[in-house]
Amino acid sequence: MQLGISEGREEPGQRLWQRLPPNPLAELRQVAEEQERAGQALLRLEIGEPSFRTPPHIIAAALASLQEEAQTYGPSCGWPWLRELLAEKIRRVNGYEVSPANIGVTVGGTGAVQLALLATVGEGDEVLLPNPGWPHYYRQLAIAGARPVPYPLDPASGWLPDLSELERRVSARTRLLIVNSPGNPTGAVFPREVVAALLDFARRHRLLLLSDECYDELVFEGEHVSPATLLTPAEREQGIFIGVYSFSKTYAMTGWRIGYLVASQTLMRSLSQVLDASYTSLPLATQRAAAAALSGPQDCVAQMRSAYRQRRDRAVALLKRYGRYEYMPHGAFYILVNIASKRNGRQHSNGSDSAQSSAFALELLRRRNVLVVPGSLFGSRTVDHVRVSLGAEEEAIEQGLSTICELCEEEKHAPGVGEAREHSEELGQH
Ligand code: PMP
Repeated sequence: MQLGISEGREEPGQRLWQRLPPNPLAELRQVAEEQERAGQALLRLEIGEPSFRTPPHIIAAALASLQEEAQTYGPSCGWPWLRELLAEKIRRVNGYEVSPANIGVTVGGTGAVQLALLATVGEGDEVLLPNPGWPHYYRQLAIAGARPVPYPLDPASGWLPDLSELERRVSARTRLLIVNSPGNPTGAVFPREVVAALLDFARRHRLLLLSDECYDELVFEGEHVSPATLLTPAEREQGIFIGVYSFSKTYAMTGWRIGYLVASQTLMRSLSQVLDASYTSLPLATQRAAAAALSGPQDCVAQMRSAYRQRRDRAVALLKRYGRYEYMPHGAFYILVNIASKRNGRQHSNGSDSAQSSAFALELLRRRNVLVVPGSLFGSRTVDHVRVSLGAEEEAIEQGLSTICELCEEEKHAPGVGEAREHSEELGQH
């Protein structure tokens, strides 16, 4: 007699993927793919994908590597020649001193955040993270088993953190603070005094500070301040700081999957063990491409930055024309658009639950063929927003934003999806 696969065994434990929070974007993408299969042309403004190709000298370095050298395994933290160049980049762009021994090469900034979390937090730990913030933080914390504790960013200040809100959320279980400037989805660039205050807060509560600086070279106004520049060398070696960086946006290299992190040498030893156990090492040709990006001409970075800035300016001007301007993103390449109706000077939310921005995004996709990210994906502060990527071409951004504003106007005058719900809520209150 043959035994069934589960007979004679205990119930399986919860699988890791079952812990991951739901992803409403996956559903939208499925609808988008169906529409594309049916021959409809879509404006895809959802993903943080540069419209540029990787600069040719970077591609040439990868091709030369593939043709001229054996593609072997490598050191788990990355080849020493790349780590040397990364230490130089940290000095040049981020303004602080590190040795190659403080640097680990990772599978994108995504891999760097995941690795940092796996090596520093676990069950029972709490992690402070920005709201709104990059949705992957939630998923990666679920993988690490730690509890996310979102802290609000304030739209009235251009999406800066309010320190008193952080104080209210810190507990004896808090272990790590995630800071992201320039920020996704807001584009906020934290001024020096805000960065200093965040660092003081981390010091006071003995927290690790994870600074996600993946957009460090995409700043339009002001300066990017890495918290590490405000640390003493002794503090850096004590390991309070982890810096996360990426080639994806700076050099239009999203699909190459290469990033890196900076940490104390002690922490680096744990990180390299996790890294080794996870994927051993990154492809050599990719590391050669990254080295070429760092040692080659940097005008490609400046050119892309100025194109993103121009797109930002056009986007802001358009939102002003439609009366939907809310704030100025000073970095990264996203803009949040408030989709709530404004009547009689009062702001009416198209509803109060987190399904609102998803409903709007679905309607925008189905009726107008424009795909954006519902604000609910970034946290509870942006359920009345959608995020538009400025990585797309200028005309697509303008067309997409006009369509969003027009759909908002339509809903303001004629009860649509959100409006009908709003009325029923208002009636319910009286
Ligand atoms: N951090 C933030 C805030 C991001 O927006 C992204 C990419 N969207 C990343 C990290 C990681 O990017 P990558 O893995 O492509 O380097």
